[in-house]
Amino acid sequence: MLSVIIPVYNEVQVLPVLLERLKASLETIGAYELVFVDDGSIDHTLQILTQHHQADSRIKIIELSRNFGHQAAITAGLEHAKGEFIAMMDSDLQDPPELLPEMLEILQQGRFDVVNGFRQNREEESFKRRFMTRLFHKIFSNISGLEEIENTGHFSMINREALNALLAMKEKTRYIPGLRHYIGFRQTQIEYSRQERLSGKSKMRFSALFRLALDAMFAFSRFPLKLCLWLGITGVFVFFLAGIHVLLSKFTGWAPVGWSSTMISIYFLGSIQLTFLGVLGEYIYRTYRESQNRPIYFIRKKYL
Ligand code: UDP
Ligand code: MG
Repeated sequence: MLSVIIPVYNEVQVLPVLLERLKASLETIGAYELVFVDDGSIDHTLQILTQHHQADSRIKIIELSRNFGHQAAITAGLEHAKGEFIAMMDSDLQDPPELLPEMLEILQQGRFDVVNGFRQNREEESFKRRFMTRLFHKIFSNISGLEEIENTGHFSMINREALNALLAMKEKTRYIPGLRHYIGFRQTQIEYSRQERLSGKSKMRFSALFRLALDAMFAFSRFPLKLCLWLGITGVFVFFLAGIHVLLSKFTGWAPVGWSSTMISIYFLGSIQLTFLGVLGEYIYRTYRESQNRPIYFIRKKYL
């Protein structure tokens, strides 16, 4: 059986077309389930879904108790998938459901465990978003040691073994494309052109994307800590030289009043220290969050 995980957040406008296209694409696949995760929608998303659920038992709904975010919603869906093969995709038809049978076929041949949708284009996104995404992925692939995942987003299909690996990682701060890459297994990709959102605006606010980028960087590398260390070492070196200069000036009797140099060093050291503290704070915050061990999401009701 194939399980398709679809997080939805205020998507009334796209649901009818989505369901239609999903059903049409999956017609040839006998056994499947569509696991919709309602991520605290405040429009009629849930009502529409429950209507479809009553008419077709292959449509299942996990209703979360509030909006927990894209990553948490996908996680909820993954944990409830019953299928041997599991796909995840966005609800807004940026990921074409027509590709699912092809992905399934690749996995069924048994040579691969993970098929990632590889987007050929990003033209549908705003310039600012494209620029920031590029920047993030440039930094991320450099510091995390995970190669290019720039053009593989969430759209993908994995088998049960890969899913078990993915779910074995219990961390609360989740960046699923990174985790999916991290598990290894035999991965391949299938190219597709990403469409414009069928309707409505992106549900990911800029702040949410920024947070996701930070989460990914802190979760997959210790680069921020290393940066501190390098800055610190550089600082020590520079001020060692400066110290020698000061001493020499003193002994050669040429001691300037030195207000500017004092101020500059205070600013410089002060800002390095503040940066350090901020970075350490991020780690402490994340460690604290993990140690609280709160569930990633709460379920209000399941329609299975
Ligand atoms: N989504 C969600 N919770 C959120 C934000 C988004 O479940 O807090 C869902 C949304 O309904 C969509 C998918 O996640 O199915 C991707 O969201 P969106 O298309 O808005 O993001 P983008 O494509 O701009 O990254
Ligand atoms: Mg989208």
